[in-house]
Amino acid sequence: MLAPLPRRCARISFDDAAWPGMSVLRVILGDQLSPDLSALADLDPRRDTVLMMEVAEESAYVAHHKQKIVLVLSAMRHFADELRLCGVAVDYAQLDASGNTGSLTGEVLRAVERRRPDRLVVTEPSEWRVHAMVEGWAALTGRPVEVRPDDRFFATRARFAAWARGRRAWRMEHFYREMRREHAILMAGEQPAGGEWNYDAANRKRLPAGVRPPSRLRFAPDATTRAVMALVERRFSDHFGLLEEFGWPVTRADALRALDDFISQGLPRFGDYQDAMKAGAPFLFHSLLAPALNLGLLSPREVCRAAEAAWSAGTAPLNAVEGFVRQILGWREYVRGVYWISMPGYASENALEATRKLPAFYWTGRTDMRCLREAIAGTELYAYSHHIQRLMVTGNFALLAGVAPREIERWYLAVYADAFEWVEMPNTLGVAVFADGGRMASKPYAASGAYIDRMSDFCSACAYDVKRKTGQRACPFNYLYWAFLIRQQDRLSENPRLAMPYRTLAGWPLERRNALLAEAESFLDRVEEDDGVSRENR
Ligand SMILES: Cc1cc2nc3c(=O)[nH]c(=O)nc-3n(C[C@H](O)[C@H](O)[C@H](O)COP(=O)(O)OP(=O)(O)OC[C@H]3O[C@@H](n4cnc5c(N)ncnc54)[C@H](O)[C@@H]3O)c2cc1C
Ligand code: SF4
Repeated sequence: MLAPLPRRCARISFDDAAWPGMSVLRVILGDQLSPDLSALADLDPRRDTVLMMEVAEESAYVAHHKQKIVLVLSAMRHFADELRLCGVAVDYAQLDASGNTGSLTGEVLRAVERRRPDRLVVTEPSEWRVHAMVEGWAALTGRPVEVRPDDRFFATRARFAAWARGRRAWRMEHFYREMRREHAILMAGEQPAGGEWNYDAANRKRLPAGVRPPSRLRFAPDATTRAVMALVERRFSDHFGLLEEFGWPVTRADALRALDDFISQGLPRFGDYQDAMKAGAPFLFHSLLAPALNLGLLSPREVCRAAEAAWSAGTAPLNAVEGFVRQILGWREYVRGVYWISMPGYASENALEATRKLPAFYWTGRTDMRCLREAIAGTELYAYSHHIQRLMVTGNFALLAGVAPREIERWYLAVYADAFEWVEMPNTLGVAVFADGGRMASKPYAASGAYIDRMSDFCSACAYDVKRKTGQRACPFNYLYWAFLIRQQDRLSENPRLAMPYRTLAGWPLERRNALLAEAESFLDRVEEDDGVSRENR
């Protein structure tokens, strides 16, 4: 006679009738830290075991920022403790435990040997690479492996594929509107709340001098996190990034506090200053919730509902709430859909045939370009940059310079606490560097220094002069922008959204175009030869 089921605990649905007499090994991956995960549904705590694995392969397939590794491992350890408190047996492989094989498949095989389960259950992995591994587990373990859909997203993969089928180009805005209707978020019947679908035009303000952003809610590392920090310093000392400023939420309780804090402090002005940048202020009014969302500590539904509730209560304006909801219900779902219908070929797309190496300063921050220096310094210290720094500073430079897509893509995957391939890769290849030739974005996000000057206070104290178009002190974004358009003329000049700059270029004599190309090439050659110690403007 089995003991009675423990009390229902923290959103786990226990069930002893689903697999009578069978024991199930339930594999939980590092970004699946949600008690209502499909792999935990119908769990019988008297027979089943949850397997969680810390493996070197996952921490090092790219050299992740130290904070990213600490975040994932610490959140996993806290989640395992929470499951144990609910009476669930957790078989937890620590990174430095003796015998740890260093790979997910190796640890699954060892656990099957130890536990001898009748079957395995896992929620579909978020990344293609891990998905390919899971496909081999049935043959390797000799047990049935049930892969369940990840229902933590608004749209299933099949839902997105159905939407994308037959469309030549995928536009986020169209998908987003369908999601708004389907999930009745910010809707007034069939119409969008407030009468407009998109309030972006109101969301492009520069930050005025007198406006002070809220301070970041920082979660001081507890004993578990401190132990992981020591482990990471020992095992991954050569990885990029500093640990001193680690302050990410690593439990659901802390993630909920971070959400509350954002809704009251950041959201009301999130919209107005969404695209703004300011020296020494890396977070502005952004939520910093991406790591908690991507690990499963928060669900996108509850985050969108919390923002909508703030609008209903009159504590946040519609331009802010719609702008925020669009990032999650729109962009986040859309990039996931694109990732799954495009992989594995997406990883090697290079529509603009870009081949340059990633400049060394992406790692060292040693450049005279202040906008890049700021973005990279913040990245090293916090494992964070907000969206416009990623897109219009580091991404824009890589696009204009013609950095090989794979080089810049691996950099983004390595350096941010929220970096997971399914969300990072389409943002980099499809949005930042136009490597898919326009399936995701209707035009490349290419901009000269004028854009950065308009949206930030960086240029006033930069070694370069944003007003100068050519010459030693000219802002490199200026001549790189025009050189990019000249180089890509055959591919881009027919794009209606680029008609204006191409009309301007058409009026330039050949000598002017050639001189500009030569100046851009010589700057890029200097950057490429740079070992990251000298600076390009010396
Ligand atoms: C080149 C590039 C690489 C990126 N890599 C990642 C990545 O690895 N992981 C990641 O989560 N986001 C990535 N983004 C998207 C976005 O920049 C981050 O989600 C955001 O900066 C995280 O900070 P935040 O939580 O303060 O976001 P906020 O500005 O507060 O936005 C709220 C939430 O919306 C979601 N979101 C916002 N923009 C996007 C977007 N373009 N795509 C998907 N979700 C979005 C995030 O979950 C975010 O937490 C990338 C963007 C670019 C341009
Ligand atoms: S002048 Fe150019 S390089 Fe310097 S901060 Fe402005 S945009 Fe960046």
